Amino acid sequence: MPHSQLARRGVLFVLSSPSGAGKSTIARMLLASDPDIALSVSATTRPMRPGEVDGRDYHFVDLQRFREMTANGEFLEWAHVFDHRYGTPRAPVERMLDEGNDVLFDIDWQGAQQLYQQAGGDVVRVFILPPSVDELGRRLRGRGTDDPAVIASRMARAASEISHWDGYDYVLINDDVDRCFGQVRMILEAERLKRSRQTGLIGFARKLIKAGNALSGE
Ligand code: 5GP
Repeated sequence: MPHSQLARRGVLFVLSSPSGAGKSTIARMLLASDPDIALSVSATTRPMRPGEVDGRDYHFVDLQRFREMTANGEFLEWAHVFDHRYGTPRAPVERMLDEGNDVLFDIDWQGAQQLYQQAGGDVVRVFILPPSVDELGRRLRGRGTDDPAVIASRMARAASEISHWDGYDYVLINDDVDRCFGQVRMILEAERLKRSRQTGLIGFARKLIKAGNALSGE
């Protein structure tokens, strides 16, 4: 019996990092390489950036719609992230899990914490750190503007996000994107193999035990 065909409970896989640590690249690599994990597309009140697509990167909504969604209990979690609101719509996550997928969440530490509580602790939380202070500075400065106030605010945001690194199960340092991606893949694979997630294994293991007992003449 190929292991991949046994039923198992989906993994809620959270990736967080300060901006500039390379999380989006790794998330993209993971989604492109693994058909069994799907992205939870968040709703946000922040304006769309050039190159972003509504419904793919985020569901871009206004404050009134976001408030309605909150009031209707449509979010699994939501948070203020600096100047805007971000939330994880509940229904698509439930659908993806029902379809047998794992779900990838690109959310901040507040979201990771809330999701952990909602899911009774059954969440895998991965935090990605930049390789050094210098490199973080280089990446944050190299993002299209040299305005010192903008750079200072990015640095402050990064510091604030990093201060929550200890609320995660796994912490990686992205000094080499392929290596870091490999580590993310290993974590996901290991989490998939956890006995508690492998509901289909119960019947399979019983069958093996029964057959083994029959063969031994018991
Ligand atoms: P950005 O505006 O740069 O796309 O994202 C800013 C931050 O918001 C990132 O750290 C991202 O992980 C976080 N974020 C995106 N979607 C959600 C969400 O649905 N919930 C929470 N709590 N954080 C989110």
